[in-house]
Amino acid sequence: MNLDFDAIVIGAGAAGLFCAGTAGARGRRVLLLDASARLAEKIRISGGGRCNFTNIHCTHHNFLSRQPEFCRQALARFSARDFIALVDKHGIAWHEKTLGQLFCDDSSQRIIDMLDRNAARAGVKRLMQCAIAAVAKDGDQFRIESTQGNFRAAKLVVASGGLSIPQIGASPFGYRLAEQFGLEVVAPRPGLVPLSMDPAWLARYGDLSGLSFPAEVHAPGAKFREQVLITHRGLSGPAILQASSYWQWQEGTKRPLEIDLMPEIDAHAWLRQLRAGGSRAGLAGALAQHLPRRLAQQLADGTPGAGRVAEMSNRTIDEVATSLQRWSIQPAGTLGYRKAEVTLGGVATEELDPVSLEARRVPGLHFIGEVVDVTGHLGGHNFQWAWSSGWCAGMAL
Ligand SMILES: Cc1cc2nc3c(=O)[nH]c(=O)nc-3n(C[C@H](O)[C@H](O)[C@H](O)COP(=O)(O)OP(=O)(O)OC[C@H]3O[C@@H](n4cnc5c(N)ncnc54)[C@H](O)[C@@H]3O)c2cc1C
Repeated sequence: MNLDFDAIVIGAGAAGLFCAGTAGARGRRVLLLDASARLAEKIRISGGGRCNFTNIHCTHHNFLSRQPEFCRQALARFSARDFIALVDKHGIAWHEKTLGQLFCDDSSQRIIDMLDRNAARAGVKRLMQCAIAAVAKDGDQFRIESTQGNFRAAKLVVASGGLSIPQIGASPFGYRLAEQFGLEVVAPRPGLVPLSMDPAWLARYGDLSGLSFPAEVHAPGAKFREQVLITHRGLSGPAILQASSYWQWQEGTKRPLEIDLMPEIDAHAWLRQLRAGGSRAGLAGALAQHLPRRLAQQLADGTPGAGRVAEMSNRTIDEVATSLQRWSIQPAGTLGYRKAEVTLGGVATEELDPVSLEARRVPGLHFIGEVVDVTGHLGGHNFQWAWSSGWCAGMAL
């Protein structure tokens, strides 16, 4: 089959599906190709099957990128409000879970169906299980050789995502294609990923596996107040996932994270007040007023010389307060791409126009979604980037 199109979109995930539908609705003849058998698997498994499809507080401050302002224009041109309007138009019921995070009431499949129907209605031709063998540019035309035929178009959009969850088809395709055309790629690494701890830490805290508690996690350059979860491999939970994206942010530096177990109170003042009041409680009992009992016991057991609060020295109070509010955690590593929700890094934003997502040095070549060096916080921001960047490219095709 040899067919010509106005635009070819590679990757029928969140960004690619939305981009193809947007361009198709503007009368462009669009071909959408994907190597996987199943459509938009990441949308399907997202948000525990309910797709946290956007966040009402989404701004460029919710993203990591070498150029933190890059995503600002796209997010403004197609905002969370615009996507909510689309979801409402299609009668998809949703609710806010927490912190502005919007989820489908029913299932992620509703979002996939909406995007797929819109693309089909707009005349987009979609081919699945289409392995791409080669991409070349002849003059002003891109030529694609694939297992399903050879195709040509003046515009090529790369929406092949990042490296997270290779078991459902993630591939480095987009990075390799960018490099083929001489574009810089910021080294990818796993983001929003559980952290592993060393055997000594696990020997001490591993028994608390499954325990979850609210805390404020401080990473280099950011802090997050959400739940922390102790696992049999180390640490997870929303606050840790968020912090993980910043943990390796500066090349080569793996600075410890600090966890404030009592962000609502001044632990130092509280302990002194307890002592002054002649509290008969042991340290574990006192800590259990603010922490899960098992964690309180574990922390007290690890504090030499901590007997009853009433008898604690100034020095012990200082030490306990510091360990409560600046609990230093040195992760051994991350659980890698198999467990990471996103991939940090990607096609350097300096290479792209922030309005059209077109490569400045390769006319007609666009990169959208997670393949770009724009990575959101947990909570719907990554899908919003997929919608915003997909829409902007779709309007430029
Ligand atoms: C478990 C999990 C849960 C998540 N939950 C949320 C959430 O609730 N909210 C949120 O905002 N974000 C969530 N995310 C992140 C979100 O899914 C991604 O950021 C988003 O899907 C990125 O969209 P994309 O279109 O760029 O890439 P993808 O959706 O990953 O789509 C890329 C597409 O490209 C195709 N492809 C890859 N390589 C090739 C190739 N060589 N040839 C052809 N096609 C190829 C893939 O098959 C895929 O269909 C979650 C991620 C995971 C892993």
